[in-house]
Amino acid sequence: MSVEMMNVNLNMERGWPCKEQLNLSLPMLDLVRSDTVLEYETDYRGYAGTGGITPLKNIFSEILDVSNEQIYLGSTMSTTIMYDVVAKAMFLGLDGEKPWKESGNVKFICPSPGYEKHFKICETFGIEMIPVKMNDDGPDMDIVEELVKNDTCIKGMWCVPLYSNPTGAIYSDEVVHRIASMEATSDFRVFWDNAYMVHHLTDEEVTISNILKDTSVHPNRVFEFFSTSKITFPGGGVAGCASSIENIKWLEKTSLLQLKTGDKINQLRHALFLKNKQGVLEHMAKHRTIIKPKFDLIDDMLTNRIGYNDNVKWNNPKGGYFINLEFASGGAKSVYEYCKERGLRITPAGSTFPYGIDPEDKFLRLAPTYLSLDELEVASAILCEAIVNELGLE
Ligand code: PMP
Repeated sequence: MSVEMMNVNLNMERGWPCKEQLNLSLPMLDLVRSDTVLEYETDYRGYAGTGGITPLKNIFSEILDVSNEQIYLGSTMSTTIMYDVVAKAMFLGLDGEKPWKESGNVKFICPSPGYEKHFKICETFGIEMIPVKMNDDGPDMDIVEELVKNDTCIKGMWCVPLYSNPTGAIYSDEVVHRIASMEATSDFRVFWDNAYMVHHLTDEEVTISNILKDTSVHPNRVFEFFSTSKITFPGGGVAGCASSIENIKWLEKTSLLQLKTGDKINQLRHALFLKNKQGVLEHMAKHRTIIKPKFDLIDDMLTNRIGYNDNVKWNNPKGGYFINLEFASGGAKSVYEYCKERGLRITPAGSTFPYGIDPEDKFLRLAPTYLSLDELEVASAILCEAIVNELGLE
């Protein structure tokens, strides 16, 4: 049966790890047992301890190149901590300053296309979103600087600085420095979501400039977020925030009532399993072996079927979880609808923009990791048909 005739039920909407990836971390579950949990100097079973256990902080401080005092380990998902920091800034204020909500109409800079959950957090708290164009090396900083300098209601900015969701952008040193040092109101904060800090798809372990070391002008500007959702288990992993010592103290103090102590047994399991930065990178290389062929398959199918075309391009990311399709003269929505009718779900057109509105209807996000290679072949064939149909190609 030709692909045009087929009706399928395939979902490449979200960047979920597949079963083979989840299997990689199964041995971790055997590492802390009733007969070994007391082998350590510290008893991790009780109430004592806020903000994470030292052996796990050691691993993240090595990866992020900060001190242990600059790390907070909290819940199991980084979005929880991001949501929480926004809520606390809105209602409690940041280190002694008045709550954001008392400063009028709070606004955030939202580089777009971007991560829809960042935008949903803003919507939840009634924060106005200002989209700013994303380039391959980060947001357009001329625009960002101009906006932020002239409007004290702009209190925050979302950034996914490495292998950005969904464009795969890698922030340049210059962009990082301009974000760290630009003029803004004193309680302006950068939400530096380093979700893909070790999620390389090539031999090159791309690193970006360490914004937490660029603090001479604004020492408390940046909250950096990370998690093991796509290293070990989403929801069963560990998440954290790195920042200035002052911000971490603020975060611990304001979190005490919510989370006196996290799941330290799970943190210990992660520390034993991942061991150190090298251990994390070796583990991520196993993920790459599973998922890289999936990215390649989509790229090959698009190249063979669509080839070079002025009206559509896509990226071949060096890391992260997404492929980004860009239609020069629009048409993303109808490609999405065509796929949906065939039973292939991709991330709805528009969802990578604030309020779900892509003003030029240009972008579509593909998430290749969850489906098997066989399923992806069918999915890509449907996608190619949709594009051929939309662009009137033969
Ligand atoms: N940030 C970005 C940029 C993401 O792409 C994702 C996952 N899609 C997350 C955060 C989610 O992180 P967590 O599971 O730790 O909440």
